[in-house]
Amino acid sequence: MIQLDLTGQVAVVTGGSSGIGLATAELFLHAGASVAICGRDSDRLARAERELRERHPQAQLLAARCDVLDAADVAAFASEVEKRFGRADMLVNNAGQGRVSTFANTTDEAWREELDLKYFSIIRPTRAFLPMLRNAANQGDGNAAIVCVNSLLALQPEPHMVATSSARAGVLSLIKSLAVELAPEHIRVNSILIGIVESGQWRRRYEADGEAQAAGQSWEDWTRELARKKHIPLGRFGRPEEAAQALFYLATSLSSYTTGSHIDVSGGVARHV
Ligand code: NDP
Repeated sequence: MIQLDLTGQVAVVTGGSSGIGLATAELFLHAGASVAICGRDSDRLARAERELRERHPQAQLLAARCDVLDAADVAAFASEVEKRFGRADMLVNNAGQGRVSTFANTTDEAWREELDLKYFSIIRPTRAFLPMLRNAANQGDGNAAIVCVNSLLALQPEPHMVATSSARAGVLSLIKSLAVELAPEHIRVNSILIGIVESGQWRRRYEADGEAQAAGQSWEDWTRELARKKHIPLGRFGRPEEAAQALFYLATSLSSYTTGSHIDVSGGVARHV
């Protein structure tokens, strides 16, 4: 395994209190970085902070309550990071969740909510942390990077997730534009396109599946069956740490000559060449 020493660097992970974000925060801590995570639910955030501190007693860690859709929250989060660590080198825009709905049952309000979530969960944190990322980029051999968690739906839409798929495609375009605009400032912008990753949102869907619960189906059997139904070539859901490793690569100098690009973490689901 390549060991990268990130001591002195600061990674910010939105939605770092669960699933992919939590696994990503852990990787950064493991590599010696200072880490700031945020989420809306204070209890979930406190649990995540406890878990991370147990495993990394020396952790330089900030866990802040912040809704990325609230401009004031995001500005306050960025100020807290600046006060505590004095810098931000890597921003992982991860916070969010998908919406299951077809064109027939997506209301105007639902469309607006979904577009708002997918776009502004990137726009607001990016805007708030840009000054610190610019400073990081200007420091000698500095590494400044933004990585966004996006979905394979951006390239391969699913009609039962019409609003999410459409928003994901738009976000892919946004990320490309950002990468080109920020390249002269030596800030790289990339994304990962994930398929299905075991996480809080899939746990919640499993718990809400009345049939599976009534039949006493285990989580393992439920995910395996779904992977088969969804024709995932690798035959299983991804694990949060598998998405986290791709995010880590794109956030750090391991990918210093990569910008405006994405990594597929879908277990082979992508059908395009
Ligand atoms: P989880 O539900 O496990 O984690 C989501 C995290 O985001 C939580 O920490 C949650 O905390 C936080 N969050 C959600 N909304 C906000 C908000 N408005 N402001 C701040 N934090 C927020 O799910 P995943 O790890 O799966 O999700 C991570 C990302 O991956 C999401 O953007 C999701 O859409 C995307 N994704 C996941 C897929 C999968 O199969 N798992 C597939 C495609 C994309 P809290 O609720 O307390 O705010």
